[in-house]
Amino acid sequence: MNDTLKKMLGKSQEDLNQHHIHKILTTASHIYYQTYFLPLLDINGQVNEIYLTLQSATDKIPVLMNAVEREVDGTKRIECVLMETRVRDEYENELIQDKRNAERILQETDEANLELQQLLKEVEGKKSELEQLNLQLQQFALTDFLTGLSNRRYFEEQMTIFLVENRDYYKPFVLLLIDIDYFKLINDKFGHLVGDIVLQELSSKLQNAARTDDVVARIGGEEFAILLPNTDEATSYKLAEELRRSIEQSYWSCEPVTISIGIAVVKQGDTSMTILERADQALYTSKNLGRNRVSIG
Ligand code: GH3
Ligand code: MG
Ligand code: MG
Repeated sequence: MNDTLKKMLGKSQEDLNQHHIHKILTTASHIYYQTYFLPLLDINGQVNEIYLTLQSATDKIPVLMNAVEREVDGTKRIECVLMETRVRDEYENELIQDKRNAERILQETDEANLELQQLLKEVEGKKSELEQLNLQLQQFALTDFLTGLSNRRYFEEQMTIFLVENRDYYKPFVLLLIDIDYFKLINDKFGHLVGDIVLQELSSKLQNAARTDDVVARIGGEEFAILLPNTDEATSYKLAEELRRSIEQSYWSCEPVTISIGIAVVKQGDTSMTILERADQALYTSKNLGRNRVSIG
């Protein structure tokens, strides 16, 4: 035993003289030495890297031991080299600690990812809410507040589309301009609020009379327009006449109301202005001829 080992064990040469190696091993290492180390040495003549724990006066000291069996001057001798593994253990502990830290960070990352996904889902929800609101807003922007019909802006947009389709694909359409007869008298007689109710009643009557693809809009105070897609002059006249008559004959909450109608059938080269002018002229004719009638411009 060299001085380093003696120092490590805190023992003097006298303490150790003639003692068995068991003296410096813990009980567990002692058993291991006996049952594993010695048989292995017997078989191989050497043993590499086995872990043992030395027992010093005060401490347990883990070591790594290599041993080789030799014959010197006819005597069998086991030569052992020991290396303290405390430093190695410390490294190992550090590695374990680092691994735990990495696992913790990984877990935290997973948690953060989960939270992020939750937030993304929320954002997704808010986004579709916003899209819904935008859609509603768009709807509001194109709807007449009093009557719930389409407003002038929507009517003009549709008219532009109809004109383009007429220009490009020769799709015919007809414009009806409708104006309530003597509406001012209703306002004067019953007040503005009742006048509003009449506007609402007329709106729902117009909407109910319209076909699925017809566009019904309130384009002014007591002026309405209906776009009739894929309709010829004769049909439009028939439809307008039916409408006029049904309004005249329908039930009203205050007093009977009639309407005058001006018809304009789209012509090649028409613009919004020209077709509106023709319908307006026709409406003017209906008014001049005594109201409650249909004219074609
Ligand atoms: P005509 O047969 O020539 O069309 O006569 P009219 O009285 O209907 O026409 P005029 O243009 O002289 O009067 C239209 C009236 O419509 C005047 C206005 O006070 C009324 N009016 C316009 N917008 C509204 C509204 O939103 N609510 C109510 N209650 N009245 C309205
Ligand atoms: Mg008017
Ligand atoms: Mg009027």
